[in-house]
Amino acid sequence: MNLTKKILIALVLGIIVGIGLTFSSSDVFSAVDTYVLNPVGQIFLNLIMMIVVPIVFVSIVLGTAGLGDPSKLGKIGIQTVSFYLVTTAVALVIGLGVGFLLEPGKAGTFNVENVTYEEQAAPPIMDTLVQIIPENPIEAMSTGNMLQIIAFAIFIGVSLAVLGEKTSGIRSLFEQANEILIFLVNAVMKTAPYGAFALIASAIGDTGLDALGSMFMYMLAVIVALILHGAITYSLAIKGLGKASPLKFYKSFFPAMSVAFSTSSSSATLPVSMKLAQEQLGVKKSISSFVQPLGATINMDGTAIMQAVATVFIAQVYAEPLGLSQLLMVVLTATLASIGTAGVPGVGLIMLSMVLKQVGLPVDGIALIIGVDRLLDMLRTSLNITGDAACAYIISESDKKNSKQKAQQSAL
Ligand code: ASP
Repeated sequence: MNLTKKILIALVLGIIVGIGLTFSSSDVFSAVDTYVLNPVGQIFLNLIMMIVVPIVFVSIVLGTAGLGDPSKLGKIGIQTVSFYLVTTAVALVIGLGVGFLLEPGKAGTFNVENVTYEEQAAPPIMDTLVQIIPENPIEAMSTGNMLQIIAFAIFIGVSLAVLGEKTSGIRSLFEQANEILIFLVNAVMKTAPYGAFALIASAIGDTGLDALGSMFMYMLAVIVALILHGAITYSLAIKGLGKASPLKFYKSFFPAMSVAFSTSSSSATLPVSMKLAQEQLGVKKSISSFVQPLGATINMDGTAIMQAVATVFIAQVYAEPLGLSQLLMVVLTATLASIGTAGVPGVGLIMLSMVLKQVGLPVDGIALIIGVDRLLDMLRTSLNITGDAACAYIISESDKKNSKQKAQQSAL
């Protein structure tokens, strides 16, 4: 049986066991979770987290060095950031639209009297941008600061490209390190079905059926918006801009989406999503290794959708009107907020508190949605990494077509 099938079975079994556990007593759930699900899930998470920083670093160094002309990196950078900003804004508009249509905040009675949410501060966007160049690259790696790791790797990669033959020893060292890391990703992926099963069963069992029942419309609105964005926005972009097949894209990329679903972390999914983009979708290594790690940090369309729906939901629960200028503010703040925050579980809520504050809605409203956020985090993370891979696929496909055209022209 191939890995995709095994992961699919693990997802279904994880959901069934998770739902089964919500019917059991809390003692039974906590014993199963503490001694079986949590350790198995954590071991899987640690296994993939272990290779994220080295793989991002090594592949960006090699990717940048392999581009040859450093100015090409600038061009890819502009295309990537533009794609990310536009698709995030579209995601927010879809989320707001679905929120207004389905009116989740009016479906049921929500007691807001005693709810409180302790806000956590997100780094100001200017700080993030200024700090992109790391003062201490080793610290950047030890804390997993993705933007700083990307910047340092680009510097090294450009140096290797410029110095050429003189640094061929180091370059082959990087190439060999890359081989080791790819070998490790393949090995770790063999454990994915078990890890995914444990993480999913634990998340569903932890959430409980009560929360699922009362927040049904909110969850439905988020899910509908996520599906619309994946099925329409990305498919149109892949077909229109990349002149490629969305079906092939989704079929090949499914295992990465399921790893994102079980880990709720774009960063942790990077080794798998880069491998699939390069091996199954034929994305050029130099493009995938730059576009996808960048996307794991600055591009989170699924998270943007949750924030849009949550903002509308909270406004409806508190009976606060949302005017056009506030809606524009949601789109602007949420797009900017996604740039500065890392792709790790639960970070979407920190960003949401920034958005709510900006439009003058009570941050305490987050307490209402927190109970089901873990499950939605799984779904939105799958969309987050899909957006990154779609961008890499599109840029790589158009790059290939351009090179082909140029070759044909020069042959004439
Ligand atoms: N877990 C998400 C990610 O890693 C971020 C979030 O929405 O909380 O992409």
